[in-house]
Amino acid sequence: MTFTAQILTLYPEMFPGPLGTSLAGRALAEGKWACNPIQMRDFATDKHRSVDDTPAGGGAGMVLKPDILGLAVDHALALAPQAPVIAMTPRGKPLTQKLVRELAQGPGVTILCGRFEGFDERIFAARPIIEVSIGDYILSGGEMGALVLLDACIRLLPGVMGAASSGDDESFESGLLEYPQYTRPVEWEGRMIPEVLRSGDHAKIDAWRKRQAEDDTRLRRPDLWERHIGARVQPPSGARRQTKEKRHEPHSDD
Ligand code: SAH
Repeated sequence: MTFTAQILTLYPEMFPGPLGTSLAGRALAEGKWACNPIQMRDFATDKHRSVDDTPAGGGAGMVLKPDILGLAVDHALALAPQAPVIAMTPRGKPLTQKLVRELAQGPGVTILCGRFEGFDERIFAARPIIEVSIGDYILSGGEMGALVLLDACIRLLPGVMGAASSGDDESFESGLLEYPQYTRPVEWEGRMIPEVLRSGDHAKIDAWRKRQAEDDTRLRRPDLWERHIGARVQPPSGARRQTKEKRHEPHSDD
């Protein structure tokens, strides 16, 4: 089964964009994922093909119309009924490695990209939509967010990264930041690669890396560190809720 990305957007020409190069581009050419951008304007019903209108109650900007969004989402759901529908919104749940992993294990994603002031609120009640944010800042549209989300998923698809990197040591995979990396030359501008990494003693190297990862996380990301410590002292909760629903629902709640 090919991981299929459907992107509902006013700018389909932005896809695959940068995901057509490098690792993701090769994977696309090899059929390891599929990219299906869909022009939302094609679902407009008036002769001006309008997709937006002024905000009810007044205020600046324009809002994406629910009737057009509804038709576009229904079209995407008919093409990929199993794929979760994600709307990029600044108020959505933060994109995390955990959510990325869950999405990458599924059949693909349908991503709804906002523009202007965003979406008419009623679409979120009327359709099964998960709102996701890529950070606490405002983009001009959801497309960049969609590219970020897809890039993070695609590198995890089977056969995309190759045997060299399972990704398990990567920052966030263990709840910690990754340890610092070095490569040749051994001495550069008077600075040496730490001796332990040149010792060939793998137990010592593993211990050093673990300590570095812990120190870095504690100092740079106290929020992650608190969660990591909390997870260690709490008993593992085996009782992860499994939904019986047909749709592939990512069940992370953070
Ligand atoms: N008025 C909205 C912002 C609209 S920005 C607000 O204040 O919340 C236009 C579109 O860009 C949004 O609909 C969304 O799809 C996208 N976008 C902006 N910032 C984003 C973020 N941090 N994460 C994900 N999508 C974002």
